[in-house]
Amino acid sequence: MNNAKIMAKLYKGGRAAEEETRLLGTVENKLGMANWLKDEGHEFIVTEDKAGPNSVFQKNIADTDVLITTPFHPAYLTAELFAKAKNLKLCITAGVGSDHIDLNAANEHKVTVAEVTGSNVTSVAEHHAPPRAQLCAGARADREGRLERCVARSSFDLEGKVIGTVGAGRIGQRVLKRLMPFDPKELLYFDYNELAPQAAEALGVRRVADLGDMVSQCDIVTINCPLHEKTKGLFNKELISRMRHGAWLVNTARGAICVAEDVAEALASGQLNGYAGDVWNVQPAPRDHPWRTMKNPLGAGNGMVPHMSGTTLDAQYRYATGAQDILRRWFAGEKQESHNLIVENGEYATKAYGDRKR
Ligand code: NAD
Repeated sequence: MNNAKIMAKLYKGGRAAEEETRLLGTVENKLGMANWLKDEGHEFIVTEDKAGPNSVFQKNIADTDVLITTPFHPAYLTAELFAKAKNLKLCITAGVGSDHIDLNAANEHKVTVAEVTGSNVTSVAEHHAPPRAQLCAGARADREGRLERCVARSSFDLEGKVIGTVGAGRIGQRVLKRLMPFDPKELLYFDYNELAPQAAEALGVRRVADLGDMVSQCDIVTINCPLHEKTKGLFNKELISRMRHGAWLVNTARGAICVAEDVAEALASGQLNGYAGDVWNVQPAPRDHPWRTMKNPLGAGNGMVPHMSGTTLDAQYRYATGAQDILRRWFAGEKQESHNLIVENGEYATKAYGDRKR
C-alpha cells in the first residue's frame, strides 16, 4: 500500500531518550522507523497524547490506516473508537499483550491485530529472578529510615516453597525455568493449554486442573496469562481468600487480572504477605491508586514498580524491529508470521486469549 497513514502512540522519554537512542519505544526515537517510513512515502504520526476526544490519538484515529501502540503507556482502542476508525486495517502492538485493544471490536470491524510475540518474554521472566528481591519487600520499609539494620520479619527463602504459575506460555515457562535452581518444594501450573509431557518434565512442573485448588497449595503465585474476558478480575476477594494465609502474589501480566481494592485489602489484613509486579489496571495509574500505598500489617509487602519489566533495551530492539517487520510484510502484501497474529479476518488467531474452542 502506498501513502498510508501510520500512527504510533508511544511515551515520551525526554532527556533519557535523547541521550540513549536505544530507547526505541519512545516518542523521540519513534521505534527507529521514521526515516524508513518517510522514504517509503508514508505519513507517520508519533504521539504520547491519548486522553480525550481532542487528543492527537483520538483526532487522528478516523483516517489512520495502521495504529502502532505499546502496552507500557497504552492507547485504549475501545469499541467506540473502532466505530470512528473507518480506515483502520492493522493494529500492531510493539511488545506483547494486546488487551488495550478491544479485540472483539477488532473482529467485528475485521481489523487485524498483531503483536511482536516473544519479543520481551525473557525480560519479564528475568524480572522475576531472583524473585526473592521482590518477596523481601519487608526490607523496603526498613530502608526508609533505618539503613543500619534490617529486621527481616517477612523475608523467606524460596527453597522448599510451593510456587504456582497461572499461565504456562512463553513467560510462565521461562519463570518456572528460572525458579528451578532455587530448589522449591514443588512447581505447579494452571493453564487450559496443557504442556507437552516432555516440556512439563523438563521444567519439573505439575499441572493442577482447578485454579482455586492450585492457589490453595502455593506459598507464591505468579500470574503469567493475558488479560481477556475470563481473566479480568480473576484474582478477587473470593480467589485470594483461597490462597494460603500470608502467601505472595506476583503479577507482571496485567493489572486488571487482579481487583485492585481486593488486593490492597488482602495485604492490609495479612491474607497476602506481599504483592509485587509492574502492571497496573489503568496506565498511567492515578495518584490515588491503592497499589501506590498499600502495605501489610508489618508496614511492608508492597513490591510495585512502574510497567518496566518487558522494556529492557534488548526488548526494545526486538519489539521495534519486530513491529517494523510486521509493517513491511503488510505493505508488501506478504503473510504475517502466524505466531504474531492475535486476531485476523474477524477471528481469534491465537489460543492464548481465552479458551474459545476454535
Ligand atoms: P503466551 O501466549 O506465550 O502464553 C499465555 C498463556 O496463558 C497461554 O498458555 C494461555 O493458554 C494461558 N492462559 C490464557 N488464559 C488463561 C487462563 N484463564 N488461565 C490460565 N492460563 C491462561 O503469552 P506470554 O508471552 O507468556 O505473555 C503472557 C502475558 O504477559 C501477555 O499477554 C501480557 O499481558 C503479559 N506481558 C507483560 C509484560 C510486561 O512488561 N509486564 C511483557 C510481556 C507480556
